Amino acid sequence: MKKFQNYINGKWCDAKSGQVFENRNPANNNEVLGTFPKSSKEDVNEAVAAAKKAFESWRLVPAPKRGDIMKKVGDIMTERKEELASAMTKEMGKVLLETRGDVQEGIDTAYYAASEGRRLFGHTVPSELSNKFNMAVRSPIGVAGLITPWNFPMAIPTWKMFPALVCGNTVVFKPASVTPETATHLIEILIEAGIPQGVVNIVHGGGSEVGNAIVEHNDVDLISFTGSTDVGKKISKMASDTLKRVSLELGGKNAQIVMDDADLELALDAVLWGAFGTTGQRCTATSRLIVHEKVYDEFMKMLVARTEKLRLGDGLLATTDVGPCVSESQRNTVIEYVEIGKKEGAKLVCGGSIAKGNGLENGWFHQPTIFGHVLPNMRIAKEEIFGPVLSVIKIKSLEEAIKVLNDTIYGLSSSVFTKNINDAYTAMRDIKAGIVYINAPTIGAEAHMPFGGVKQTGNGHREGGWTVYDFFSEWKTIYVDFSGKLQRAQIDNE
Ligand code: NAD
Repeated sequence: MKKFQNYINGKWCDAKSGQVFENRNPANNNEVLGTFPKSSKEDVNEAVAAAKKAFESWRLVPAPKRGDIMKKVGDIMTERKEELASAMTKEMGKVLLETRGDVQEGIDTAYYAASEGRRLFGHTVPSELSNKFNMAVRSPIGVAGLITPWNFPMAIPTWKMFPALVCGNTVVFKPASVTPETATHLIEILIEAGIPQGVVNIVHGGGSEVGNAIVEHNDVDLISFTGSTDVGKKISKMASDTLKRVSLELGGKNAQIVMDDADLELALDAVLWGAFGTTGQRCTATSRLIVHEKVYDEFMKMLVARTEKLRLGDGLLATTDVGPCVSESQRNTVIEYVEIGKKEGAKLVCGGSIAKGNGLENGWFHQPTIFGHVLPNMRIAKEEIFGPVLSVIKIKSLEEAIKVLNDTIYGLSSSVFTKNINDAYTAMRDIKAGIVYINAPTIGAEAHMPFGGVKQTGNGHREGGWTVYDFFSEWKTIYVDFSGKLQRAQIDNE
């Protein structure tokens, strides 16, 4: 069995306690993929000290040179894409097509970061005084603590780590404990690309031990967290003691609207991909479908027929459409919500049980499940389930559809299918979400665009594209007076 380690201060090492945890295949729970260090506060302290020391030299490396390392990272990821995708499928279950996409997002993020090393634009602004020069430049901040979930084991860490590094910060990284292997491969790639000692450190282990220790550490200057809203709120409170900068990317309850003039075949392909891709375990997954009453019956018939044909199985097989839930506890959450939906009086029209037969009983499989006649105030219409469950709500107008779509504490992604341009623009304006798709599913973020949500999906920061560089750098305002005399702003220009 493979034994994996932490990487601290340029060295692979075990947890100080010597303890380990197992990483298992969710499609076949008898298969142990490896052991990982079960780390604690002591390991975090060592990683933070290494990152703090390395910051003093890394911040002085020219940004284009930091970008050159990202370019090499992108090249190595490209070479290793297939191997990385299959390791990811084994540890978290989504099908190869999707894990390849996850790696590709990392590659795109690496090349974007490489080019950003030659930009990192600041501003030059005229002074109000003579012979004075004003500019605002981006400065590195310090040690960045990165805490990530398991559903995009490569893409999400790269969204955080590459901009953090190009901006001149150093990193202490804690990946989700159900996807530690992909994270470890990412570190191997950074090492191969020439990342200096101490600049990137990985500490494996549980959220409440390792995650907490990173958030509470005085020498960690910023936290970038992606995960559940509950944990995000805890992190926000913990981090307030040291007033460190925190970026939170949290849960969602995303909806797709299908209007009566929509291309129904297109809307059908979209909802199947949005609701059951990654087994419904995407932060942008389509969890609610809001359908106009005029096409409700027809669309439901089409939807159920196609959903019943989806093939469950091991994500490594070309015949599989939908993989397992990531863990037993994630599947238990799905089972619980199916019971809640039934009790609330929604109509179960498809699926609704754990999946068995053909070896599926060895994994955490659950049938793709659809509830019809869901009312907007039901829990299955409001709470994030994070599994293959779709709640379908009938509406009479666009106005009602948008009202229902907005009626949640979350605000990540949304989608509208219509051929009416006025309706499309009204939806773009009135939907309360960080992301709106017109005639496309709720999933499909591109690496060079801002990504994030409103309301309890986050705290106002954005990942992706140019916007994440604002989070990982500090503005420094510089005035250079070359007049040779004391000039007083607001006084000497009167
Ligand atoms: P989670 O909140 O359980 O865990 C996320 C990470 O936080 C893991 O690494 C975990 O070990 C760590 N953690 C847990 N408790 C902690 C604590 N007390 N202190 C510090 N760290 C702690 O989430 P998950 O189950 O891994 O992921 C699913 C959730 O992530 C869903 O809610 C999903 O919507 C959300 N998500 C959001 C986005 C986004 O960009 N908005 C993207 C992907 C996933």
